[in-house]
Amino acid sequence: MEPTYTSGPTGIWEQRWHQAVIDALNTWQQHLAITLVDQPEQAQVLLERRRPPLRNNRASHGRAELQLLEVQRQGRWQLEPKVTVMISPGQAQPAIQATALHELGHAFGLWGHSDQAGDVMAAIPGGKPILQLTDRDLRTLQWLQQQPGLTQPARP
Ligand SMILES: [Zn+2]
Repeated sequence: MEPTYTSGPTGIWEQRWHQAVIDALNTWQQHLAITLVDQPEQAQVLLERRRPPLRNNRASHGRAELQLLEVQRQGRWQLEPKVTVMISPGQAQPAIQATALHELGHAFGLWGHSDQAGDVMAAIPGGKPILQLTDRDLRTLQWLQQQPGLTQPARP
């Protein structure tokens, strides 16, 4: 995980983004083992402070993109997921936090959406920012953690 805030101009806008993203990370960290690393190459999830490019002519404040990379670990090549999360700084702090919480959910494997507007993983966000995981979000996470697959490290 790499919250990139060490380079570039510092200021109130950057601090606001940084704090919102850290708050979102802390929320997930209560339920997942998340390790922050200094080197972007080590990260499986990269956090970027920028507005995602338009997709189908539509603007959005956040996006998570999954790639499969072939990487060498202890002399063996294997496929690993790498997720780039883009979070726009151009929102109020609670909205940035809600966006980060949602997009990090994708990054941690929740690629589907909820049909309930009150959930962090709602397909269509409701009027106010959701800053806490709901019981439904947590049940989805638990279900995911019980599935075999990419979320578990490959055994030698
Ligand atoms: Zn989404």
